Amino acid sequence: MGELRPLIAERLPAERARIERAYEFARDAHEGVKRRSGEPYITHPVAVATILAGLGMDTDSIMAGLLHDTVEDVDGVTFEVIEEHFGPDVRRIVEGETKVSKLSKQGSQQAEVGDTGRDMQAENLRQMLIAMTGDLRIIVVKLADRLHNMRTLGSMKPEKQVRIARETMDIFAPLAHRLGIGQIKWELEDLSFQYLQPDAYQYLQTRLRTRQEERDALIQGAVVQLREALEDDLELPEWVSDIDIAGRSKHLWSIHNKMQKEGKALEQIFDLLAIRVILTPRELTVPPGTDEKRRERAEETREKRICYHTVSIVHSMWTPLPGRFKDYIAVPKPNGYQSLHTTVISQSGQPIEVQIRSRRMHEVAEYGVAAHWMYKQGGALAQKDRENWISQLRELQNEINDASDYLDAVKTDILSQRVRVFTPKGLAISLPAGSTPIDFAYHIHTRIGETTVGARVNGSIVPLSHKLDNGDMVEIVTSKNSKPSQGWLNFAVTRSARSKIRHHFRQQEREEALQHGHDLLERYLRKRQLPVRQLMRTKLLEEATQKLVGTRNPDDLYLALHAGKTTPSAVGRLLSPSLAQEQSNVPARRGPAAPKAPAPGGVYVEGFTTTTKLAQCCNPIRGDQIMGYLTRGRGVSVHRIDCPNMIRLLKDEPERCVAASWDSGTPGGTIVDLDVVAPDRPGLLADVLSVLAAEKRSPMKVEAGVGADSTAHIYLRVAVTGNTDLETLRAAILRVSGITDVLRTGKNGGRGRVSA
Ligand code: MN
Repeated sequence: MGELRPLIAERLPAERARIERAYEFARDAHEGVKRRSGEPYITHPVAVATILAGLGMDTDSIMAGLLHDTVEDVDGVTFEVIEEHFGPDVRRIVEGETKVSKLSKQGSQQAEVGDTGRDMQAENLRQMLIAMTGDLRIIVVKLADRLHNMRTLGSMKPEKQVRIARETMDIFAPLAHRLGIGQIKWELEDLSFQYLQPDAYQYLQTRLRTRQEERDALIQGAVVQLREALEDDLELPEWVSDIDIAGRSKHLWSIHNKMQKEGKALEQIFDLLAIRVILTPRELTVPPGTDEKRRERAEETREKRICYHTVSIVHSMWTPLPGRFKDYIAVPKPNGYQSLHTTVISQSGQPIEVQIRSRRMHEVAEYGVAAHWMYKQGGALAQKDRENWISQLRELQNEINDASDYLDAVKTDILSQRVRVFTPKGLAISLPAGSTPIDFAYHIHTRIGETTVGARVNGSIVPLSHKLDNGDMVEIVTSKNSKPSQGWLNFAVTRSARSKIRHHFRQQEREEALQHGHDLLERYLRKRQLPVRQLMRTKLLEEATQKLVGTRNPDDLYLALHAGKTTPSAVGRLLSPSLAQEQSNVPARRGPAAPKAPAPGGVYVEGFTTTTKLAQCCNPIRGDQIMGYLTRGRGVSVHRIDCPNMIRLLKDEPERCVAASWDSGTPGGTIVDLDVVAPDRPGLLADVLSVLAAEKRSPMKVEAGVGADSTAHIYLRVAVTGNTDLETLRAAILRVSGITDVLRTGKNGGRGRVSA
């Protein structure tokens, strides 16, 4: 039991007997078994339990730590036995651990086989994350297990060392960070670093070791000086019962990371040397009858005052480096971390980072979620945040089935660098760094994301592509009938927002394709004056579907029609015996040409009430994917998102580009100019015009010409009701033999391909 017994005696004296029983149970179960290193197996669960006790975890977690490998490794030990002896909570945690490690073993056995191994590993991590949303203690015990395994990784095969270290760096260290358990995070990172980049690790270790003595002397000198100054202060000792000052040198992985990220040399890193001051406030004397809330508030305020007072003493004895003071007490980090950081030039001329915090803030920083079991009331805000991301984990589980996609989503959405922003009601929302109002909106609710038209950050209107900063207050403007824009995919960063946007468009595309396929068939039958409703009866249609596409779902037939994989006439022949007898090339019945009156523009909505106009370069029409550009003084101009000008604007002035979408007003006609391209042949123009007539459209303008390379261009000006309508027309024209392209041209000569 080594260090465990004294720890328990100190922290959980009343629980000694229960923990002792769990220890004896585990010891007997693992009797005679050795670890790869040669030590008795029981040393591992004891080490895990010691880590947990050191974190201040509760008795059930410590017992689960002792028992975590028994069910898996020992015959005759079942979850039922565990529950019988140690209760349902211990069973739940042990069960969580066992499921995870069982999968993990299968995974590592298959790892050499390749993809299956990776899939298994992803599946295994997914299972773990699912288990931990049920009881956070499962992950804390898992982290302790992993930490001890990392400490003893030296006895594993090199390939295995690298694989486990990679997984630790990618998943477990960030998880520890998200849970706020700094102590475990640092150690996991440094241990992984050692195996993943042995050279860089060695380099830093030797560089730092050679100067270690010097560094130690320096920091010790500074600690003594600071202690004298603080104890000599007239006010501070009255407020605090204990001043804990410790020097530390930054851990290797974070030095390495900082050097890489900021391109700095070792000498340029200011917090290599750091002093941490932990202040324990004296019991606050309050007038009798003061209510609990008020007392808590007073305690919190005094805690802060003690920290600010201490930093003022530090700044008056050593010169602070400008721009290096960080107030994480007023603005805590997204994981709940609170502290004051400042860098000063010490007497020796070396920069030293000084961190100042209260005992409570320190516990939260070191033990994070574990501190919750020690200080039940502590860190309400941080707690909220955690509940938040746990529910996000659950949400992702429901949305993403594939294990490795799920893991990717967890990495980008949950384990990445964070920004913390606020709703107008002051609710803190934590998002991956680089998030935009769109990510925020989808995070709040899918419905809000989908109807977003604009956003305000700290009261000012911003483009939807605006990157959010820590502390921003974000307000989303929605409009009931608004729909997502494809352009959002250019800047949304959260996996969940992106997949919801894509889902929306896949859904919409499918609906449009179904409608289009349906319309093609209906129009074909109507033109031939056939009883449409009767022929499109499900039964007949199902049979035709079966013959043409091999399924019995008419939707598949519509999709095939839309994609041009089958034709209306082929379907028609199956539906109607009279059509089957006809020649396949029946001339279309010509109806009276009924030109649709073009309606004026102004049919879109925007996040702004300012004037908007359709750009002439790409002449967008209803249904096109569009974006707005905030002009200087002339309102918003609206472009198609594939317009070359828009693409350039997005690159050059993204801050002026805003989301735009079509409103739900009555669809009016829009005039478009088309350029029909084909190698010249006799009768080409007549064929195109007869298609227009068959489609019941009369062009407002027709011009034709043949270029030097004998390519014919037929310029048409026609009215269409929108993008879908245009697509139908375009598809009809494209069916004329020889036609290679139907291009949409702008009034000013800017031309773009009709989006296909
Ligand atoms: Mn274990």
